[in-house]
Amino acid sequence: MQRYRTQYTERNKPGLEGAIEIEMEVVSDYLHVGSGVYDIEILKPLDNIQQLVESALKGSIPDLSGYFSPVTHEMAKYGEKLVIPGSTVKGLVRTRLELSIPNSCYVVSRNSNSSSEVYKRIFRNPRHKYSDKFPEQVCPVCDLLGNAGLASRVSFSDLVMTQGKAEFVNVYNEYYESAVKGSKFRGKVLYHSFNNVDLGMLLYGMGFRIKGGKLEGKIMLMGRFKYSDRRFGRVRFSLVKGEYVNALNEFIKKYNPLDFNEEW
Ligand SMILES: [Zn+2]
Repeated sequence: MQRYRTQYTERNKPGLEGAIEIEMEVVSDYLHVGSGVYDIEILKPLDNIQQLVESALKGSIPDLSGYFSPVTHEMAKYGEKLVIPGSTVKGLVRTRLELSIPNSCYVVSRNSNSSSEVYKRIFRNPRHKYSDKFPEQVCPVCDLLGNAGLASRVSFSDLVMTQGKAEFVNVYNEYYESAVKGSKFRGKVLYHSFNNVDLGMLLYGMGFRIKGGKLEGKIMLMGRFKYSDRRFGRVRFSLVKGEYVNALNEFIKKYNPLDFNEEW
């Protein structure tokens, strides 16, 4: 309880407040992030529906090909522009931090994608023990990104496409609206009550590493088919402006986080 009180007090200190402008580039052939909207078009009317029902009742499966268009899965849009929801970006950051920081509490990671072999290959973490949680403490990831009982100190705007184009890609006869390679999206991450380590943690979660004294985004997996189809799901973040090498260094020194190669 001691530690929780300490953290609570710290959370009420003013701390650093600001915004990081980020850009995300699609580096695989395609990126599809589902909006939950999908569409089937009726191509011709079912005018012989009675006949179809009768033959179905006699046990023969009616042939409906030609009556419906294939299913299309759309991405979210802002006006005409494709959008990656801020919640998707936040989820990506949270998963990576939970996997990288020993003893964080695995809110997301434990429940998702656990059956994918590729996921296991990339993210298997020998230093993690599920039972290692400290119930009286707020884990560093929840302290940053919030959980059911704790407000987040970070908010992610949607990322809006600023460059590139969308195509419908056929995967198993369904069509996925996808941003093509080289497409770019921009958005903002707002933070408050931060210290330098918090800032470094946030950047680490977005895949930033220090290369030659500068920040460089590593390849990260996002969206549909990221573990099953190599044409999909690879992105890389960069900063529109600002240098945060010191912050990232401080975070790495304090937590000695794990890293994963997400290219498979
Ligand atoms: Zn946590």
